[in-house]
Amino acid sequence: MLNIVITGAPGSGKGTQSDILVEKYGLKHISTGDLLRGEIAKGSELGMKAKTLIDAGNLVPDEIINGMLESVIKANLDAKGFIFDGYPRTVDQAKNLDTLLSAYNEKVTIMLNIDVNHDLLIERLLNRDKTSGRADDNIETINHRLEVYQSVTLPVAYYYRGTDRYHAVNNNTTIDDCFKQIEALIAEIKK
Ligand code: AMP
Repeated sequence: MLNIVITGAPGSGKGTQSDILVEKYGLKHISTGDLLRGEIAKGSELGMKAKTLIDAGNLVPDEIINGMLESVIKANLDAKGFIFDGYPRTVDQAKNLDTLLSAYNEKVTIMLNIDVNHDLLIERLLNRDKTSGRADDNIETINHRLEVYQSVTLPVAYYYRGTDRYHAVNNNTTIDDCFKQIEALIAEIKK
């Protein structure tokens, strides 16, 4: 399997790059944010618990996210690989992902850390706010999400940085340019 972790600040383009990766490599896209928004739309108990946290820009507890992730992995073991988008967001989640995958003799093949400068992130998120309908794409919540990212999620990059799986990708220019960098990294692994 080709298992890709794609991480980066809110607005860094994880979802957009994941969509292109799905099209090109036929991988199963797992976005924990999308899964949570699906639960909210269904009005499930899990969704109701998550909604208040998401709307305030806080993370949903690891136990909830880890359980949700495990069910999706189990249901898609016939996939060519997974793209984990927005997961792991804490070091505990990163450890959990390694444990989960190793139970199926699988591992994270590559970790892509998408880098975008702060002003551009804010600009992209505020633009997205015009069309996304997301309650968390307003300036106060965006600022809080960026703080949570800095304090809790950035250490996830350090978790992978010590290994050859870690790669930084620059997304300060265009979607195409960012994808070209990713494509080159994947081509290197497939050699
Ligand atoms: P995203 O669509 O990835 O930006 O996620 C939207 C929101 O869902 C986040 O701000 C969190 O509140 C929640 N969320 C998504 N993924 C996770 C995760 N792996 N751990 C905790 N909370 C998450």
